[in-house]
Amino acid sequence: MSTENRAVFSSLEGKSPEDVFAQIPTPSYILEEKQLLRNGQLLAQVAQNTGCKILLAQKAFSNFDFYPLLSPYLSGTEASGLYEARLGKEKMPEGEVHVFCGAYREDEFEELLLYADHIVFNSPRQLQKFGKRAKEQGKSVGLRINPEHSTQEGHAIYDPCAPGSRLGTTKALWDRYMTEELISLLDGLHFHTLCEQDSDALASTLQAVEEKFGDVLPRMKWLNMGGGHHITKETYDVPRLEKTLTYAKNKWDLQVYLEPGEAVALNAGYLASRVLDIVENGNTKIAILDTSAACHMPDVIEMPYTPPLYGADENGSQPYAYRLGGPTCLSGDIIGDYTFDHPLQEGELLLFGDMAIYTTCKNNTFNGMPLPDIWKRSPKGELSNLLHFGYSDFERRLGRAKEET
Ligand SMILES: *Cc1c(COP(=O)(O)O)cnc(C)c1O
Repeated sequence: MSTENRAVFSSLEGKSPEDVFAQIPTPSYILEEKQLLRNGQLLAQVAQNTGCKILLAQKAFSNFDFYPLLSPYLSGTEASGLYEARLGKEKMPEGEVHVFCGAYREDEFEELLLYADHIVFNSPRQLQKFGKRAKEQGKSVGLRINPEHSTQEGHAIYDPCAPGSRLGTTKALWDRYMTEELISLLDGLHFHTLCEQDSDALASTLQAVEEKFGDVLPRMKWLNMGGGHHITKETYDVPRLEKTLTYAKNKWDLQVYLEPGEAVALNAGYLASRVLDIVENGNTKIAILDTSAACHMPDVIEMPYTPPLYGADENGSQPYAYRLGGPTCLSGDIIGDYTFDHPLQEGELLLFGDMAIYTTCKNNTFNGMPLPDIWKRSPKGELSNLLHFGYSDFERRLGRAKEET
């Protein structure tokens, strides 16, 4: 196994997937408390060392049964809109609730004010429309800025600084629309421009922020640096992060916030699946699994990327090569090409790693695929079922229930 894969599967402590998960029906997600704790402790250490506050971005991970476990290490939750704001308020009530949404709706705003502590607007117009009302209700008000500083290649759909991006207010728009009256409504600025990146990207982004918006930052109470910080990844440069956060805090005398999603639940989940069939086409052997990329790990197709798989690798270094695919009718429902040290067998258990994030909160029942159950694995290794999904979960969203006769 590659070094990186060893880190992904380290919670198994050398045991094989069949040793640990034989009793679990497939497909199932298994969420690892030990890894959540490890991530939480690391993030809390950064917060302690720098005075910054770290929030859970719920769009990446919102399995709230784990909020009590995470809450001691975090300052609250970040939401993408009304539902996540309510979830954060109700399930982690001791924490702050921050919300950013591309555009708020008039018919939701009053309710949103019940849940949110910080409300971040995407445009000067949204700030003008809702900002005063939020302030009158005692909310902390922010504007998302776009520093127009791209630091990522290859994942344009995850780059809010890409040309033509709708996310955040550019310096040009700020100069055109931000009147003194609007600026005086602001308690803070927000930027979110990273995706799975190290702290060098944050440092250079902060420099761009300083160049474009440095003149208003001394007037702000807080600066929220968004998510996309891969803080809990083994190779991440934490000291450089802490230096960057401390710089901002001291330079402008403000509270710094981070709102990572991925870093909170990195490597804290598995997706267990079994081989249903093995087919061949030319020289390609294809294993059809009881899990689907399109339905159960949509980022594999959307990003795209090849997820880590226990005992296998993606670089062709082992003798038995297979393409892994789902049972759906979508030709592109391919998880990836892997090699193994043995021929795959029907019924064999395959364990995908780093499956806590952007999965349980993003999956779907396309093709009538069942949703995987969700299990919890305690720090002592005890497994318990949290959620079971069945036919009714599929049916409910598609039509009216039959009238009682
Ligand atoms: C997606 C997002 C996050 C979390 O991003 P991760 O890559 O999961 O850390 C935080 N803030 C905002 C505004 C986001 O859109």
